[in-house]
Amino acid sequence: MKRLVLLGGGHAHLFVLEAFARQRPDADIRLITPDALTPYSGMLPGVLAGHYTSRQACIDLRPLAARAGCHLTLDRAIGIDSARRRIRLAGGGAVNYDLLSIDIGSTPQRPDIPGADEHAHPVKPIADLLARCAVVTPRAVSVLGGGAAGVEVTMALHHRWPAARCTLVERGTTPLGGLGVRLQRSVGAEFAHQRIDVVTGAEVTRIDADTLQLADGRTIASDFTVLATGAAAPAWLRNSGLALDARGFIEVGATLQSTSHAEVFAAGDVATLTASPRPKSGVYAVRAGPPLAANIARMMAGQPPLDWHAQRHALMLLACGRRHAIAARGGWVLKGDWVWRWKDAIDRGFVRRFDPQADSETAAG
Ligand SMILES: Cc1cc2nc3c(=O)[nH]c(=O)nc-3n(C[C@H](O)[C@H](O)[C@H](O)COP(=O)(O)OP(=O)(O)OC[C@H]3O[C@@H](n4cnc5c(N)ncnc54)[C@H](O)[C@@H]3O)c2cc1C
Repeated sequence: MKRLVLLGGGHAHLFVLEAFARQRPDADIRLITPDALTPYSGMLPGVLAGHYTSRQACIDLRPLAARAGCHLTLDRAIGIDSARRRIRLAGGGAVNYDLLSIDIGSTPQRPDIPGADEHAHPVKPIADLLARCAVVTPRAVSVLGGGAAGVEVTMALHHRWPAARCTLVERGTTPLGGLGVRLQRSVGAEFAHQRIDVVTGAEVTRIDADTLQLADGRTIASDFTVLATGAAAPAWLRNSGLALDARGFIEVGATLQSTSHAEVFAAGDVATLTASPRPKSGVYAVRAGPPLAANIARMMAGQPPLDWHAQRHALMLLACGRRHAIAARGGWVLKGDWVWRWKDAIDRGFVRRFDPQADSETAAG
């Protein structure tokens, strides 16, 4: 019997498990992931803001794996030997595979700034950030990085601690650089409305316990600093023998197979579609799920995998801390409390699809 390993309980693998629950392939299937509860990215800012409990924003992989006839190993990969088709685990063991699918996400980029390790908190793992948030009441909060996650986290933390001064710190000329001007304006207006400071052109040179030092001499008060400085690939992939892009993410073709190893699939943040790279976002990890499931099943059945063409534009729904959200797609932008309710319905529906138990909890407040 062929050994299929699903590495990581990420968004794309939820669809693979769901598909296997409907039609089980004739294989020995194993899911390896560190935690039984995997967080759903769309609801993370809502957890920080206090709208959801962390359980409401998580999917329990245990029943999902059981329905798919999949063994579950709660452990973390620390190496892959693609020549020997073997995965090394943090717990000391090793697992061999005939077919491997990798959906382990990304890790926050750790900027090389003095003081970052001691005084700043990365957005991921979200459980660590939440644990930290639970034991502090800061006077001045700052978030480094003005991408979508940084923007949402800033507003979420402002909602959580309304009395704290809140600052978004961005190296470029504007938050959400590279995204549409109308979206940037809409977010700028929301920040002004909430009296959140935005500091651009900011090269942070030092992080202390209660200040950020910028290269141009400015200082920013901050006794709670969060790093939302972009996604990096797990460093251990560099020794895997798999073809990687310049940033260390796994290169995959249109079938989601590694460009160097046909028996390895990868999807979500950890993968880069060589023909049509897309942003590292949950939306694309979700979109890759059904084609990934179909192609793994085809490989198991001895059929050739099919090409997948990731859509160019995706709907972006940005939570604004309070129960208000901004929607953007292509050139259009909409905002309102009703957008938040729409987003809330989409997000809860997603989690309920894979874990009906998650939503049975009452909201956090
Ligand atoms: C605060 C925040 C808010 C965000 N908001 C949004 C949003 O609103 N919309 C959006 O589209 N994107 C959002 N993102 C981005 C989004 O989180 C990621 O793009 C998305 O989670 C990627 O999905 P994935 O399936 O690649 O990996 P993940 O969802 O990160 O899942 C990876 C899984 O692999 C497991 N894993 C990790 N390492 C290993 C290992 N070594 N061995 C085995 N298993 C491992 C993890 O435990 C996890 O279960 C946000 C990110 C952050 C930090």
